[in-house]
Amino acid sequence: MQDNPLFSLAGRRALVTGASRGIGLTLARGLGQFGAKIVLNGRNSEPLATARDMLAGEGLDVTTAAFDVTDQDAVIAGVENIEYEQGPIDILINNAGIQRRAPLDQFSRADWDALISTNLNAVFFVGQAVARHMLPRGRGKIVNICSVQSELARPGIAPYTATKGAVKNLTKGMATDWARHGLQINGLAPGYFKTEMNEKLVADQVFTQWLCQRTPAGRWGNVEELVGAAVFLSSDASSFVNGHVIMVDGGITASV
Ligand code: NDP
Repeated sequence: MQDNPLFSLAGRRALVTGASRGIGLTLARGLGQFGAKIVLNGRNSEPLATARDMLAGEGLDVTTAAFDVTDQDAVIAGVENIEYEQGPIDILINNAGIQRRAPLDQFSRADWDALISTNLNAVFFVGQAVARHMLPRGRGKIVNICSVQSELARPGIAPYTATKGAVKNLTKGMATDWARHGLQINGLAPGYFKTEMNEKLVADQVFTQWLCQRTPAGRWGNVEELVGAAVFLSSDASSFVNGHVIMVDGGITASV
C-alpha cells in the first residue's frame, strides 16, 4: 500500500485551548498521533504540566502555554509568544469551554457573563489572534468546538445553548471572511461525553436513560471518537471544507 499524506499532520503545530483534561486533552493526543507538534493551553500551569508529561511519555512532541482565554491581552501575548518562541501555529482547536446549570428564571448575571466570556468571547479572541499570524502566510486551520447544543435546547442550560449557537455562526463568519485568504475554519460539535463538565449528568441515571433512548447510537460517546473529525478538519483532507460543523453525536441531532 502506498503512503497517502492526506491526513498527515507531520510538521504542523497545533494549539489546543482547554487541553489540560477532557476533550481538549484527547484531541491534542489525537493530533499528536497524526504527527502534529502540540501546544497545550489552559489557565493553570500544574495540570498542564501533568498533561504535557503524560503525552511526552507517549512519545509526542508537546509543550504548554498557560493563559486565560477570556483575557484578550493575555491571549494576544500568549499567541505571540508561541509564534516567536516555538514557531508558526498551523492549527487552532478552539476548545476551552465551561458549563453552568440553573433554571433560566433564576440564572445569575455572573454565570451568564462567565459563559459568554469563555464560550463565545474567547473563541473570537483566540481565533483572531491566531488568524492574524495565519493570514499573511495564506494558510491555517481553525476548528471551533461547538456542541449538540448549537442545534438543540435542553432544560437548565439556555445560556450555554446561546453561546454554542453563536459559536456555530461565528464559525461561518470566520470562514466567510478568511477562506479567500487560504484559511479553513470549521466546527466540531460533540454530543454527550463523560468528561468533568458532565460529572452530574453521568451520575444521573434518569438522564442516561433519556440519552440512550434519544440517541440513535443508544449510548454516551467516547472522547476518542472525536479525534477522527478533528484530524480531518485539521489536515489537507478538508482543504475545500469551510464554515461547516461536523456533528459527532451518535445521531441525536439527526432524529426527532
Ligand atoms: P472540561 O471541563 O473537562 O475541560 C475544560 C477545559 O477548558 C479544561 O482544560 C480547563 O482547564 C479549560 N478552561 C476552562 N476555562 C478556561 C479559560 N478561561 N482559559 C483557558 N482554559 C480554560 O470540558 P470538556 O472537555 O467536556 O469540554 C471541552 C469543550 O467541548 C467545551 O467547549 C465544551 O463546551 C465542549 N463540549 C463538551 C461536551 C461534552 O459532552 N463534554 C459536549 C459538547 C461540547 P482549566 O480549568 O485548568 O483552565
